[in-house]
Amino acid sequence: MTEEPTGRAATSKPRTCSCGYGREHHMVSAEGVYTTSGYLRLFFGISARPIKVKYRCRRCNEVFSVTTDPAILDLHY
Ligand SMILES: [Zn+2]
Repeated sequence: MTEEPTGRAATSKPRTCSCGYGREHHMVSAEGVYTTSGYLRLFFGISARPIKVKYRCRRCNEVFSVTTDPAILDLHY
């Protein structure tokens, strides 16, 4: 699996991948991460709220940021 930058202290420096792309870059995708029951709900066509959102660069395939910000999770509901 992929390694995630978890457990790091919050930093004021904007996080980017190896390419220098930030969360807003068009080559960066936000991926919702769901609980097992959340995946089941999606499987049956029911919307589910992710427990966190990962930002993955489609160029280097690096997950450089993870958020659990409720406002951002709502965007992926
Ligand atoms: Zn990259």
